[in-house]
Amino acid sequence: MKFQKNFKLYILGLFLCFNFLIWYGVLAEERKELIVAFLDVGQGDAIFIEAPSGKQVLIDGGQNRQFISKLSEVMPFYDRSIDMVVLTHPDEDHVGGLPSVLENYTVDFVLEPGVNSDNATYIKFEDLIKEKGIEKVLARQGMSICLDNLPGTKSLSDCGVLLEVLFPNQDASEFDTNLASVVLKLTNGDNSFLFTGDSPKSIEKYLVDVLGDNLDVDVLKLGHHGSKTSNSDLFLGFTSPEYAIASVGLNNSYGHPHKEVLDLLEKFGVNLLRTDEEGTIIFKSDGVSDLKVGSL
Ligand SMILES: [Zn+2]
Repeated sequence: MKFQKNFKLYILGLFLCFNFLIWYGVLAEERKELIVAFLDVGQGDAIFIEAPSGKQVLIDGGQNRQFISKLSEVMPFYDRSIDMVVLTHPDEDHVGGLPSVLENYTVDFVLEPGVNSDNATYIKFEDLIKEKGIEKVLARQGMSICLDNLPGTKSLSDCGVLLEVLFPNQDASEFDTNLASVVLKLTNGDNSFLFTGDSPKSIEKYLVDVLGDNLDVDVLKLGHHGSKTSNSDLFLGFTSPEYAIASVGLNNSYGHPHKEVLDLLEKFGVNLLRTDEEGTIIFKSDGVSDLKVGSL
């Protein structure tokens, strides 16, 4: 009798295992799209990217350690690693939650502009990079990172999801922190995104001079939370986004996004999505069709 009972339990266990594997397979199979999530972190920036290959990139980490709970809303609970963390610049509303990320997740690379800062959170972040032996790369114009091959190919030269560094173009150690912001372009076939940190108008002008029509994207994260010190008429014209994201806190004391920028977005017919109104904003891209957008 005991044998029979154990045998039944054994069959039941086996059945549950198969069931789990099948569902796991179905769910994994569904993730053929690139995911770009603009996390609702109040007055700050944090963007989570996951390529169909499973490669994950985090750009900035919100204002403080509470960021971790926002991150866990877009990552499976069992996933404790992130391939690359990008710090656009070391101001508190961008670096805030990154020490907690390094404490809680395995990170392979950190990409940052290399600008000097005495912000205590940034110093803690740098200490953790050394302590954990994480590879640190200084972002420079011309670098590119392939996050996925083209469908059906294995060679990295056939890159399907490409992350390119557009700025800094030189040693940025003595720059003002906003000026040093890492600017990144992400391309997946016909879909593209531009992440500008808190880059001011002078850098936007430089990017237009150097890259011109190559700045054209579908989604633009507005510079400096939609401040009028960024997001010039010229830059919005060249980037010509379908969607603009304002990563802002509700009723923030800076008045972001500024009215001047809202007027320009209207002039160019750009759809504005704000994290203080939508919460976390998630784009799904298959590289061919129009982007799908939703929120959490
Ligand atoms: Zn900022």
